[in-house]
Amino acid sequence: MEDGRVRMYTCGPTVYNFAHIGNFRAYAFEDILRRVIEFNGWKVRQVMNLTDVDDKTIRGANAAGVKLADYTKTYKDAFFADLKTLNIEPAEVYPAATDHIPEMIDLVAKLVEKGVAYKSDDGSVYFNVRKFPGYGKLAHIDFDNQRTGARCLGDEYDKENVGDFALWKAWEESDGPVGWDSPWGRGRPGWHIECSAMSMKYLGETFDLHTGGIDNLFPHHENEIAQAEAATGKEFVRTWMHCAHLRVNGEKMSKSLGNFFTLRDLVEKGWTGREIRYVLINAHYRASLNFAFSALEDARKSLARVDACVEKATEGEAPEWAKKHLDDFTAAVNDDLNIPRAFAALFELVRETNAKGGAGVLGVFKRMDAVLGVIFFGNEKRKVEVPADVQALLDERAAARKAKDWAESDRLRDAIAALGWAVKDSRDGQSVSKT
Ligand code: AMP
Ligand code: ZN
Repeated sequence: MEDGRVRMYTCGPTVYNFAHIGNFRAYAFEDILRRVIEFNGWKVRQVMNLTDVDDKTIRGANAAGVKLADYTKTYKDAFFADLKTLNIEPAEVYPAATDHIPEMIDLVAKLVEKGVAYKSDDGSVYFNVRKFPGYGKLAHIDFDNQRTGARCLGDEYDKENVGDFALWKAWEESDGPVGWDSPWGRGRPGWHIECSAMSMKYLGETFDLHTGGIDNLFPHHENEIAQAEAATGKEFVRTWMHCAHLRVNGEKMSKSLGNFFTLRDLVEKGWTGREIRYVLINAHYRASLNFAFSALEDARKSLARVDACVEKATEGEAPEWAKKHLDDFTAAVNDDLNIPRAFAALFELVRETNAKGGAGVLGVFKRMDAVLGVIFFGNEKRKVEVPADVQALLDERAAARKAKDWAESDRLRDAIAALGWAVKDSRDGQSVSKT
């Protein structure tokens, strides 16, 4: 909408548990999208919401007997730590739903005023999908054959059960202490209204990009459009982008199917953030991606090759052959975020650098990594990736060397080597690399 600037909204996590790597496929896709826009010299204003009130968070908090805010804080903190692990660039704003209840109430009130929403006997407020002619335009719903006319109080339902959806849910016994006063009585917002209210607050009534995983498309995004456009009379979002699912043995990775790994599960097994990131981004975002440990092993090997090559690269004017690989890379990312092709350009650069030498190539690696975010430059960052057991031995060895206990130093070197790491000593101390 505005030259040089993109305003983008991404549906964030429901903070009732640790996010799984399927969720992180979506956030990694959104990170690639934002980095590619920035790669092209544009600025991004990204807003990602935190859903900290809904059926699942309330159930979790009440079952644990803690305040909703205390319960969700654990998972908010974990989420931000996980984003760092995956080298996902932070959004500009992370609005939490519970901080925006007045904005949601205002939006619901506007919809009631306009006659597209109504209060039902149970005290909840529903959006009347028959009153919004554009309903179904995103998900291409064949309205006449499918509409059941039922009401859906739950936030999630499928296309076969299209009906009036809840904007405001009346307080129930099971909500316990969670609730806010509103013109319709005590209650809480529905999930869909959160995103309409918060996106428009931070990005305006019309903005450029709205993203999420494909499961968000219906009903969540369809409902966001209905709520926003019925209230403002304006187009809500210019472009919608959705990523396909991360799958396990052909099924969507999800909490409800129990076939998931959290990021923490994989880190505990010894995989690093960038190895996991590599796997999550190395498929076209609209193609489904099957999770397998063999892909992590491949990522480890490929990244070791890149690391070894980058060590040979130096600053300076890039040679023509390196520029050509950067051109291929640029064409790939600008072709609907073709990351597998972008990786191919990176590995062509690695191959040719190994053959011709790294003079002047460092800048090209850095430019590619502005999008990929998986390459380590220099020792500082690499240190972060040393596993805890190796680091403990390194610390012991540093102490042994300080005490001039060379036999102990050698013994520890062998112990470290047995874990797959080679130690190098220099005037600045020890450094390690994977063998
Ligand atoms: P949720 O916390 O369930 O609202 O999901 C957060 C984000 O993760 C949404 O954008 C979902 O579409 C996305 N998501 C959930 N499961 C998967 C999966 N298996 N693969 C890719 N994205 C997913
Ligand atoms: Zn949303």
